[in-house]
Amino acid sequence: MSRIDRITVRSFDWRIEGMASVMRAAPGGRVTLSKFVVTIETDDGQRGDYLPHYMGRPMTMAQTCEMAPLLLGRDPETRGKIFDDLRNAFRHYDGAGIAALDAALWDLAGQKYGCSVATLLGGWRKHLPTYASTHPGQSTPGGLDSIEAFADFAAHCQALGYPAFKIHAFWKGDAASEIAVMQAVKSRVGDQMRLMTDPASSLATFLDAVEVGRACDDLAFYWYEDPFRDNSASAFAHKRLREMIKTPLLIAEHVRGIEQKANFLLNGGTDILHIDPELDGGITGTMKLAQFAESLGMDVQLHTAGPLHRQCMAAIRNTAYYEMGLVGPDMTNTLAPPAYSCGYSDALEAIAPDGTVPVPQGPGLGVTLDWEWLRYHQTAEQVFRS
Ligand SMILES: [Mg+2]
Repeated sequence: MSRIDRITVRSFDWRIEGMASVMRAAPGGRVTLSKFVVTIETDDGQRGDYLPHYMGRPMTMAQTCEMAPLLLGRDPETRGKIFDDLRNAFRHYDGAGIAALDAALWDLAGQKYGCSVATLLGGWRKHLPTYASTHPGQSTPGGLDSIEAFADFAAHCQALGYPAFKIHAFWKGDAASEIAVMQAVKSRVGDQMRLMTDPASSLATFLDAVEVGRACDDLAFYWYEDPFRDNSASAFAHKRLREMIKTPLLIAEHVRGIEQKANFLLNGGTDILHIDPELDGGITGTMKLAQFAESLGMDVQLHTAGPLHRQCMAAIRNTAYYEMGLVGPDMTNTLAPPAYSCGYSDALEAIAPDGTVPVPQGPGLGVTLDWEWLRYHQTAEQVFRS
């Protein structure tokens, strides 16, 4: 039997031109971002890698590093037991560090059997309908710095082939600024695209959430996501909101834990369950939640983008779109490092004219990491060995 005998966590950083921060454009500006990549190796030469996109953050890496020693000496194909043991061992915490290890184990299995993770999951589709998910609006010049800029960018996305468009507006905390962007985008592209809005838990009050929700109804928005400052964690509040508006709610992006998400759903807190594969237990956790919702006749959405998300979505029936984000005019998708040598991309232009992105078909996660690029940009390395 194979045994895990080495886990390496490498952090790296890289610079992006034209941005002032992860979500803010700045013509002539530059920002340095950092992420990490996990490699799991066995005593008989097997290997799996995963590079987190959205949640490749220091706090997640810290959990991953603390969890890594618990995998040493174990059979890499006992993913379900490893998932369960990590959840139990770190039950005081949110378990966000599990995902990178779980994804690397699935990559290892796919490499071993010469097939994609989607195939291991029973996946069938090779192309994923995709929506454009914007960077938030900004008050400084560049990017989405005006209401008109949102409408212009929506039209650009529609021309590229995107069938749907999600607004992250200015997050000022008031209903009026949210609704103004929604109305402008609706009047520009509303006949050609499905529209969604995500205040990202920024609205100050429940009544603000109701007001924006009623605007979603009037404008026939496809879904309404994370309205207000309960940080989208109160099932009670969102059940009340659902009783007052017609637009489907997409909630639970900020709720961690499979039982907690299940309880949130069963308590009426959402119409569509939001799952983040990089925070909700990797592929193992994501598929548990997607199948739970499917069993109730409900849909899920996967939060943000990456190879892991594509492999999972290929095997999930009850979901509508892949989230291409975050994107904006002349703005880099800062969540996806340029760390692939196989052409994999989550850039705005990575959409096909039919409005889809492909599911990588190679073994494992289906992508090839650019190790030369990663070595050049490496800042630190932690090795755990048995
Ligand atoms: Mg969101």
